[in-house]
Amino acid sequence: MTVKFRHIRVVPSPSKSRFPTCTSLLVDDGDTMAVIDPGAGPEALQAAIGERLVDMVINTHWHFDHISGNYLFPETQLWMNPIEAEGFSDLRRVAEWFGVREVYGDSGVTEWIEKVADPNTPQTEFSPCYRHEWWLSTRSPDRTYPYNKEWQIGQARVIMVHAPGHTRGSCCPYFPDEGLVYTADFDLTSSGPACGTDGDFDEFIASARRIAQLDADWFLTGHQAGMFSRSEFRARLDDFLDIINKRQQRLIGLLEAGVKPEDVHKHGLLYPSEYQMDPCIYMWERVGVRKHLELLKATSR
Ligand SMILES: [Zn+2]
Repeated sequence: MTVKFRHIRVVPSPSKSRFPTCTSLLVDDGDTMAVIDPGAGPEALQAAIGERLVDMVINTHWHFDHISGNYLFPETQLWMNPIEAEGFSDLRRVAEWFGVREVYGDSGVTEWIEKVADPNTPQTEFSPCYRHEWWLSTRSPDRTYPYNKEWQIGQARVIMVHAPGHTRGSCCPYFPDEGLVYTADFDLTSSGPACGTDGDFDEFIASARRIAQLDADWFLTGHQAGMFSRSEFRARLDDFLDIINKRQQRLIGLLEAGVKPEDVHKHGLLYPSEYQMDPCIYMWERVGVRKHLELLKATSR
């Protein structure tokens, strides 16, 4: 179902925007058309766009689920945030942000790039680890957009609100005339807040609270849950952010029970251990555990 605002159309993916897809936005004033985060999949985007020419593709951040459809618009200007634009064309940098170097080392980075370069690489079961879209959809952005400053996409006014913590460069597009904010991965899903090597849980919480204060009537998440009124979003945000505290409590319990910090991941702090046979899920668990250990260190000072 496509929800329409004045200049904005909301395009969920057929899987209700579950990871590794996301809800895309079309900004369309009848003349200029932009796609924000083309992760809804080729069919949903094709159905929404039809034969129209797309003038701009805009990414809120570098994650697979938000960029995977960039390759569908090879002739279109790609706009990226000013922090991540520089590394986005270099798969070695992307691999580093992703956590590949931290967990699998330099040889792991080389192997990962070889695998995503080959469209015939067998895929893993629970993640987009080796998907070829990594290869197709990361490219040198043509332009960067400004943060926290009113800007125009055709006739639509937009402010790309910098919201670091999920990734360093993440932002949430806010459309003051429509009273709409796309909250991307402040997504209120039951899996809870995610932050990788370039994220930070304290920043994640601060950014989410700032986004919740925006003067908008509608808060659209990038995944599953979808559209919330401001009061609903604020009410559910507390529970979502509290998942960080629940993981911290569990982490403290494990450490008190004698589990070594380097073994915490075996207990599935973020992802159940049965999913960790997937090399990406294992990697995210390792990085996530490190981030939670750092948070514990910072808060117990
Ligand atoms: Zn993300």
